[in-house]
Amino acid sequence: MSQLTASPTAHPAERILLGPGPSPVPHRVLRALSAPTLGHLDPQYLAIMDETCAMLREVFRTKNALTFPVSGTGMAGMECTATNLTEPGDEVIVCVNGVFGLRMTDVFERCGAVVHRIDAPWGEVFSFEQITAALEQFPKSKIVAIVQAETSTGAHQPIEGLADIVHARGALLLVDAVTSLGGHDLRVDEWGIDAIYSGTQKCLSCPPGLSPVSFSERALARMDARKTKPQSWYLDVSMLRKYYTGGGGGGRVYHHTAPINMTYALREALTIVLEEGLQARIDRHTAMHQRLRQGLTELGLSYIPSRSLHSLNCIRIPDGANDAGVRSRLLNEWGIEIGAGLGVMAGKAWRIGLMGHGSSARNVDLVLSALRTALK
Ligand SMILES: *Cc1c(COP(=O)(O)O)cnc(C)c1O
Repeated sequence: MSQLTASPTAHPAERILLGPGPSPVPHRVLRALSAPTLGHLDPQYLAIMDETCAMLREVFRTKNALTFPVSGTGMAGMECTATNLTEPGDEVIVCVNGVFGLRMTDVFERCGAVVHRIDAPWGEVFSFEQITAALEQFPKSKIVAIVQAETSTGAHQPIEGLADIVHARGALLLVDAVTSLGGHDLRVDEWGIDAIYSGTQKCLSCPPGLSPVSFSERALARMDARKTKPQSWYLDVSMLRKYYTGGGGGGRVYHHTAPINMTYALREALTIVLEEGLQARIDRHTAMHQRLRQGLTELGLSYIPSRSLHSLNCIRIPDGANDAGVRSRLLNEWGIEIGAGLGVMAGKAWRIGLMGHGSSARNVDLVLSALRTALK
């Protein structure tokens, strides 16, 4: 063997990705990635993009015309929605109960917004009463931003019904659905969500690189009424929509070179979601979460959040267990990746992701068996 092929970096290992993302990618999706690269204005490619956006609408359960994959990972979706919906001096309410809510405050501050941060303990979720009180205290707020699936703590925030409260005060509802899209119940139109972003590498089981977003008519009207340009050129929706939807007049216009092959991968990943059936997929995530929870309970392990996600299981590290030691043993002996605690949970939690393709009985039983051995 040559030096190069012998190198451990020459061929990435086939890990079993049961952490907070990325999740395991099916071979069908990897094969789709390797199809010939088309030009970003080739009619064939534009048709593929249109199909991808149509499937995204199904998965988001929306009719929103402005639904497309932002070029970039989930954080690009966060920046895209925040940047386009805020002008300097706008007041926004940001709900913080973990790392991703905290990041939203940072992103909105960089947009020049006046951020009213409200907090819930990490691992807990917000009551609608608390959000109503914040809207009464800060009546000029133009946005309420909240995370449906807080991947840092595993807490599952209820969203249904919240838009009524937010809209009654003239604000828009912005939701982070990075770890819920394709794994949890999520209904953009029925729930009245105005702006939403997700990521490809969590419950959609596609490699990281795109961030599906969707904007309601209300959000579109807000963007059309802007007096200033969004601070980001790359993420400016008024230009992006000309490319993705041909909307805004003038037909399709080059803005930036779309990540062509990633679009193939996303289209294939969404095809797999719709072949399984969105509801069947969500039910599978529920069943696998229950299977894992039962096994963890038998091992004496307990959950941190009182309302746990199905896609991300955040458990307390038991007394006397070696955090890094157990994780590296899982990785080296069984090829299993699980997540460490993030932020205030560092050293206190393990995060077991059961996302998309990774949410299977085989993986649940394997990680339980590995944990049983590693904790002995
Ligand atoms: C993973 C994640 C993000 C960030 O996505 P990246 O793809 O890492 O940029 C944002 N919000 C939540 C809730 C996430 O889980």
